[in-house]
Amino acid sequence: MLGVKTFEELSASVRGDIIQPDDPQYDEARKVFNAMIDRRPRVIVRCTDVADVIACVHVARENGLLLSVRGGGHNVAGFGTNDGGLVLDLSRMKGIRVDPGKRTVRAQGGCTWGNVDHATHAFGLATPSGVVSTTGVGGISLGGGIGHLTRSYGLTCDNLISGDVVTADGQFVVASEKDNSDLLWALRGGGGNFGVVTSFEFRLHPVSTVYAGPILWSLDRAADAMKFYRDYITSAPEELNVSFAFLVVPPGEPFPEHLRNTNMCAAVVCYVGPMNKAQEVVRPLKEFGPPAFDGTGPVPYPMLQGAFDAIAPSGLHNYWKADFVTDLSDDIISAHLKFGPCVPNIFSMAFIYSISGAARRAGKNETAWSYRDANFSHIIAAADADAAAMPKHTDWVRDYWSALHPYSAGGAYVNFLMDEGEDRVAASYRDNYPRLAQIKRKYDPGNLFRMNQNIKPNGAA
Ligand SMILES: Cc1cc2nc3c(=O)[nH]c(=O)nc-3n(C[C@H](O)[C@H](O)[C@H](O)COP(=O)(O)OP(=O)(O)OC[C@H]3O[C@@H](n4cnc5c(N)ncnc54)[C@H](O)[C@@H]3O)c2cc1C
Repeated sequence: MLGVKTFEELSASVRGDIIQPDDPQYDEARKVFNAMIDRRPRVIVRCTDVADVIACVHVARENGLLLSVRGGGHNVAGFGTNDGGLVLDLSRMKGIRVDPGKRTVRAQGGCTWGNVDHATHAFGLATPSGVVSTTGVGGISLGGGIGHLTRSYGLTCDNLISGDVVTADGQFVVASEKDNSDLLWALRGGGGNFGVVTSFEFRLHPVSTVYAGPILWSLDRAADAMKFYRDYITSAPEELNVSFAFLVVPPGEPFPEHLRNTNMCAAVVCYVGPMNKAQEVVRPLKEFGPPAFDGTGPVPYPMLQGAFDAIAPSGLHNYWKADFVTDLSDDIISAHLKFGPCVPNIFSMAFIYSISGAARRAGKNETAWSYRDANFSHIIAAADADAAAMPKHTDWVRDYWSALHPYSAGGAYVNFLMDEGEDRVAASYRDNYPRLAQIKRKYDPGNLFRMNQNIKPNGAA
């Protein structure tokens, strides 16, 4: 519980809900996506506006309270909550305004990608994000953002035009090319280290109906499928995005009954070019070897964005490990072939994102997000409702990752890291780390915002 003085200070300046441990809503409000994270903050404030955010930042700083900023609550390391501190929950701040003329959207920090895609789709527009619609705009954009539109329109952070930011001293600043451009550079991949972003402005692109869906192969075709994918995707047109996965086929539509609950490998396709060219562009993927199931076809973009939601529900125990790689060499493919077929259940997966095409347009020092030269980002993720099953799943993730890690480009995408220590964070930013530390010193010298993949103000790493 907060001391009386601190509580009075908060309630005098905040319009949103102030939830403390004796509140009936507390247990629901403190939950995050990953059930492995079971923390008990002293207070959760569901902010309604920028004024609430400013008040929370002041109260946390002045009372020495550990501060977590929560957007969609999906961070698997659990940075959106803490033990004994203040959770600044943005989930009530869901305002969105699309400017179809300028092709931009402004979304408040509590939006999920489902909220934003819904709003922009009405105008036949979209901006790149991740592949699950319930994930928060805040965490994804600030960490980078890779998904179905990466090869076509770059990372989410490449499309961030500006942000409204409340910094550690409670000041409200705009980060854009014109104002505080150092801060905008840092927000493009540097995570939640620099302040609370109350509103994000993104560039939009003409994306409406896409030709998309999964193509499944039986595991005896996995070696050929992976080699084909490697050679095909690096030279494919930018309108085409393809991820590769080892998975267990979900037990429902559109999958045929005989394949359900079977371990298989898959290509997940999203083509954003002219629909009359789609069949021709995607055909090589289907012709190299007969798929067991072809689920591709024209779909509204938000439908594709929601396609994984059912197999990524909130409230499961999650354990993930990840890395960037520059090449899907035969040795890496061998490691995938050893562990990929053992995905334990429909909620778990090995997923390889392609980082090429438009994601390469920015240089590796042009934004905080450094790995422009990696061709792929892989993640091995295990999830289960049963906590008792997790030690076995965790071993599978660790063994799989350990077999791949010798071929890593050096770092991992920060949004896929668990709490893995300073060296892993520094490796993910490479030579951008010193500049990030310098900007951190300017905007958050006391490291108030440290519940994240933390960049230390003193630059030690
Ligand atoms: C099921 C699932 C699927 C995913 N798929 C993808 C994917 O396809 N592509 C991809 O790139 N990532 C993906 N991710 C990873 C995702 O990018 C991270 O989990 C991200 O942290 C989630 O953002 P959030 O706002 O929901 O998280 P939260 O837990 O709410 O926030 C995480 C951290 O981000 C920071 N933060 C969030 N909002 C703000 C803000 N407004 N201002 C300042 N700091 C803020 C804070 O440091 C906070 O602690 C996925 C995650 C999950 C769980």
